[in-house]
Amino acid sequence: MGVKKKKIGAAGRFGAGYGKVKNKLIAVEKKQRIRQDCPFCKGRAVRVSKGIWNCKKCNKTFAGGIFHLKD
Ligand SMILES: [Zn+2]
Repeated sequence: MGVKKKKIGAAGRFGAGYGKVKNKLIAVEKKQRIRQDCPFCKGRAVRVSKGIWNCKKCNKTFAGGIFHLKD
């Protein structure tokens, strides 16, 4: 009998023992996949570093949430 591996979202890679953290991470990663819109031109914003975002369209750099723009 092989070992059954549970697949728990993208955080499955952490294995056992990270229960609470893992659930939080799944929520964060799920949200991260939603596109983040530039507040100025509604273009696509990308995260440059923690809390710093840059819009590909109007090339503005602005502060936002650490993982998502609006948090
Ligand atoms: Zn923009």
